[in-house]
Amino acid sequence: MTTVEEIDIAVVGAGLGGAAAAALLAEAGFSVHSFEQAPEFTRLGAGIHIGPNVMKIFRHLGLEETLAKIGSHPSHWFSRDGKTGEYLSEIPLGEFALKEYGAPYITIHRGDMHAVQIEALDSRRVHFGHRLTDIEERDSDVLLSFDNGKKVAAKLVIGADGINSMIREKLLGVEKPRFSGWIGHRALVNMDKLRATGLEYERCVKWWWEQSRHIMAYATKNDGSEYYYVTGVPVDSWDHETGFVDSSREEMEAIFGGSHPMVQGLIDATEEVTKWPFWNRDPMGLWSRGRLVMIGDACHPMRPHMAQGACMAIEDAAVLARCLGLTGMGDYTTAFRMYENARKDRATKVQTISNANTWLKEPEDPAWVYAYEPYGIELN
Ligand code: FAD
Repeated sequence: MTTVEEIDIAVVGAGLGGAAAAALLAEAGFSVHSFEQAPEFTRLGAGIHIGPNVMKIFRHLGLEETLAKIGSHPSHWFSRDGKTGEYLSEIPLGEFALKEYGAPYITIHRGDMHAVQIEALDSRRVHFGHRLTDIEERDSDVLLSFDNGKKVAAKLVIGADGINSMIREKLLGVEKPRFSGWIGHRALVNMDKLRATGLEYERCVKWWWEQSRHIMAYATKNDGSEYYYVTGVPVDSWDHETGFVDSSREEMEAIFGGSHPMVQGLIDATEEVTKWPFWNRDPMGLWSRGRLVMIGDACHPMRPHMAQGACMAIEDAAVLARCLGLTGMGDYTTAFRMYENARKDRATKVQTISNANTWLKEPEDPAWVYAYEPYGIELN
């Protein structure tokens, strides 16, 4: 007979949001275990922006300094016309962000950030190779079954299992995410070729064309030794079964060729490039039920154009940990209600603006996003 291990809190998914939730709950004194389907940690993906809103959370965990040393510190978020190079907006970050928003704004390789997050967890409580396959809500706990045969009875379950969340499926039924009609090409460029252009590449710049097609390009290391771009391109459909497919310099040239020389330099420095579909869901009416609660892409997936999807997941984690800290395990119903009250409007607003892809294209004040105080907001 399979033995059932009894635990307090199970975090399903050890991605950027789940790893943050596990660390924050442990820091708040809870007994937490993470269950991740991936067989082991791998340095996946490429670039990610982390705003001051989230660097404050990493400060709380004692990780801010480490990440700030690894990541790049852009002086601005520039928006530029893809053809002429004209500056459409120059949003100050750097020292300004430190002073006005209370923490640095960094861009970093997401694998580097994730590694720091995973290393900060108690490895005896992070269970790789555990894909959740069944959830049974019972009177005094939730029985989780994993594909490796393991069963765990948890008092509370946090669904940090991304856009295809099983926890979401349990709460709201089976529904595939919707293809947003947009794809993104992602590439780390060849730095020698980029340097050979003799052009001064800004540390964070979004190039824009008609229909809001764009290339977001930025450094991912403090010393500027790694440079990355992600595009946004509308397409008619996505017909591949896999999560992403190979693209090519030729395809980049076909879409963005004939643009500003700096864009051409990026295309010419492209060696390997992949393309990814962007999936979506409408804002959800339910974030928790009983002992189940969701954070991050499980409950508010979005197109990536505000560079705040992971930031929202980590903010969720911080606020949820605060709420549970106030109520304790026993009154999780109140904690989940406070959490949803505190988070829903903000996450939905970010989701809506991300999907519209208008963020920082023109001069605007981003303080409502970056100056957010996860440890200062009122909870009720
Ligand atoms: P995920 O990162 O998807 O993690 C979910 C985890 O759950 C995964 O590890 C998965 O393996 C695991 N899992 C899933 N199902 C199961 C199961 N059944 N059992 C066990 N484990 C399971 N955000 C930013 O903040 N800044 C950016 O600059 C930025 N850029 C982006 C660029 C692109 C091109 C894209 C696509 C996204 C970008 N995002 C960015 C968004 C960000 O990547 C996501 O919002 C973020 O990863 C969500 O974190 P999460 O922890 O909720 O989900």
